[in-house]
Amino acid sequence: MTPHQPLARLLAGKLVGPAPEGCQRDFGRLHCRQPQAVVFPAGVADVQETVRYALAGGLAVVARGNGCSSNGQSLTDSLQLDTAALDRIELLGAATVRVEPGVRWGTLHRWLHEHGLALPVVTSNEHATVGGTLSVGGFGPTSPFVGSVVDQVTALDVVTGDGALVHATADGPHRELFRYALCGLGQVAVIVRADLRVVPAEPAVLVRRLGGDDLATVAEQVWGDERLRICRTV
Ligand SMILES: Cc1cc2nc3c(=O)[nH]c(=O)nc-3n(C[C@H](O)[C@H](O)[C@H](O)COP(=O)(O)OP(=O)(O)OC[C@H]3O[C@@H](n4cnc5c(N)ncnc54)[C@H](O)[C@@H]3O)c2cc1C
Repeated sequence: MTPHQPLARLLAGKLVGPAPEGCQRDFGRLHCRQPQAVVFPAGVADVQETVRYALAGGLAVVARGNGCSSNGQSLTDSLQLDTAALDRIELLGAATVRVEPGVRWGTLHRWLHEHGLALPVVTSNEHATVGGTLSVGGFGPTSPFVGSVVDQVTALDVVTGDGALVHATADGPHRELFRYALCGLGQVAVIVRADLRVVPAEPAVLVRRLGGDDLATVAEQVWGDERLRICRTV
């Protein structure tokens, strides 16, 4: 698609890219909206620049993770802000991981696993992004015990509608912004970083019927199954 010309000029062509295949649709396929332009921020400053430009021009900006929502939440006929390149992950001590919004859950799980860590709540879609999930809540099998994905967030960096970058925490500065940005469907602010609680990766207990009576056969089956390799079998 040809980028919107004034937008391309303002952003010096560095942020507006060809619209990715499928950006006008989401998982539900109920709606189709062609964005005027798709912006690909490479960092927080790019998100701020985009929001400021949109504010000055009276344009809406809609953040898009991976479009796994089903009712047009990530679609727009204005500016779509594709967070795919905001994909950094870093550990902050032993109990917190700092992630950018474009990180997909599958990537984060694998990264944490290599560090002997895990997320307390795991949703079933490894392709959804951190930003897109924190904007809706995030529910997994352990949620009845430890809450939703947003309950694991200890701090957020968000870009508000005036382009300001704000650090918000649950009990500290900007606590209201923190609460409203989570589950805010991107209507309150664009999430550009999140600190999430992590826990030591405990071996999961997986009950599975293994065929064969001898230990060698059972061991072969365990090693042939990737899930069982990282689990303690009983
Ligand atoms: C097959 C499948 C399985 C699923 N399983 C589960 C499950 O087990 N548990 C569960 O809770 N959910 C589940 N979902 C729902 C999924 O978690 C949500 O639809 C989630 O919003 C998708 O994330 P996304 O990255 O694709 O977001 P998108 O669809 O791209 O965006 C969703 C919303 O978040 C906003 N947004 C995106 N990025 C940002 C950002 N950086 N800052 C602010 N707002 C932003 C968008 O504007 C939009 O309003 C599932 C969905 C599918 C398709």
